[in-house]
Amino acid sequence: MNPKANIIETVINHLCHSCGACSGVCPTDAIGFYETIAGHIFPEVNEEQCIHCGLCLDVCSGQHFNNTLMHNLPEDPFTGNVNNAWIGKATDPAIFENGQSGGVVTAILARAFQSEKINTALVVGMDEGNPPRPSVRIARSPIQLIKSQKSKYAPVPLLSALRILKYEDFPVAIVGVSCQIHSLYNIFDKVSGFSQNVAFAIGLVCDRVMTMAAIDYLAEDFSKEMPYQFHYRDKKAGGYPGNIHLIATDGKSKIKPAKQRMLIKDYFTPARCRICFDKMNIFSDITVGDPNGINDADNTNGESVVICRTDKGRHLIEEAIKSNIVKLKQIDYEKIIAGQKINRKRMDWNAYAEVWKKNGNKIPDYLDRVKHETIFDIKNYKKSIYYSLKLDEFQTRSDLLLFVRKALKKKRNRDLLKLPVKMIRKLAKNA
Ligand SMILES: Cc1cc2nc3c(=O)[nH]c(=O)nc-3n(C[C@H](O)[C@H](O)[C@H](O)COP(=O)(O)OP(=O)(O)OC[C@H]3O[C@@H](n4cnc5c(N)ncnc54)[C@H](O)[C@@H]3O)c2cc1C
Repeated sequence: MNPKANIIETVINHLCHSCGACSGVCPTDAIGFYETIAGHIFPEVNEEQCIHCGLCLDVCSGQHFNNTLMHNLPEDPFTGNVNNAWIGKATDPAIFENGQSGGVVTAILARAFQSEKINTALVVGMDEGNPPRPSVRIARSPIQLIKSQKSKYAPVPLLSALRILKYEDFPVAIVGVSCQIHSLYNIFDKVSGFSQNVAFAIGLVCDRVMTMAAIDYLAEDFSKEMPYQFHYRDKKAGGYPGNIHLIATDGKSKIKPAKQRMLIKDYFTPARCRICFDKMNIFSDITVGDPNGINDADNTNGESVVICRTDKGRHLIEEAIKSNIVKLKQIDYEKIIAGQKINRKRMDWNAYAEVWKKNGNKIPDYLDRVKHETIFDIKNYKKSIYYSLKLDEFQTRSDLLLFVRKALKKKRNRDLLKLPVKMIRKLAKNA
């Protein structure tokens, strides 16, 4: 039998979204991760340990959807199927105040511990350090859940932790962005019996992540020696939606306006995120997000929108309401879709997918199943795909940070799509 290709094929084709599934299923523990110049988190394979079984590629949703995802791809993949939608918050003040939006994700997980539905939850914390970095955590108690609250807008190989889960850790709940949830379902199709170990999956609305270099950019003028905590958004710093908050171990802290995070988004967006259609995390049992664009939401203290997609999800929400761990009221899903600007997402995705194909880049096998619409002008989209694909061609991290700082100094460049082609070309020349 010919040896099969391994996960490096996904990385070479710019299709890796760092979900960690390849490493989580590898039978010989041959796959680890490294941070690139631009701050992508990519798998690396120990060729001596690799037995070329091909399982890492079989579960990789960066490249393809297996049967379950293919068969359940809804008519409108940008919105997905929905039973019911809600808006509200956790009733426990500690969970609510420390939460990113309304703390609903953590409240539901905490309740699942109490009712013995789960033994562990796979979540993502932020490690204090210099530099600080997100890390996968296996939470075994509500306290550990609270320590992992808030969004880490970064690539995190969440599913790599599956390989260290033991029999007694099951059933496990998984919280993940859409690429992580896609690969979870791919694993269900390829690893026999594994789906029974997963009690439920909570999906986060996700437009995209930023590479790890975004943390370094936002913290550039902070502590050079001291370890520090980093929060992309902290409600304790300026109220909802929360400013950027850095806290050093000696107690010194700095708050930066949320606007700075928004300004740099395009400069640190991985190319793979550009061709992801699934902002609304349509395959999860429930999807949770911010109440963006919803007028009557509590935009002072924060709330979560909750979209129920499956029977499992419905039971979770009904129980959460009955046991009074969350206070939710029903809301029209159309309102959420409008607030998340899904029509704009649809348009952008179509243009990015078109550019990707025209470039001759390899496409994920389900791309043509996601509806294509007429594309009018792809010039600007071409620029930003080109830019994202070149991110790892800076010679050093400092060169990249300097480039972004210079670009942002010119007000007109704050929208990457308006960045002059000349400047992007220079990027390639620098490399
Ligand atoms: C990368 C990313 C992009 C997002 N984009 C949007 C968006 O465009 N629009 C929108 O409305 N909402 C978005 N969200 C979701 C939003 O920021 C909140 O996470 C969500 O509203 C839940 O808030 P909460 O207070 O209920 O959760 P909390 O109680 O604060 O719990 C958050 C949970 O998310 C987990 N988590 C954090 N970061 C990650 C990660 N990188 N991967 C996997 N799990 C993680 C934590 O471990 C924790 O369990 C995004 C989240 C992430 C991580």
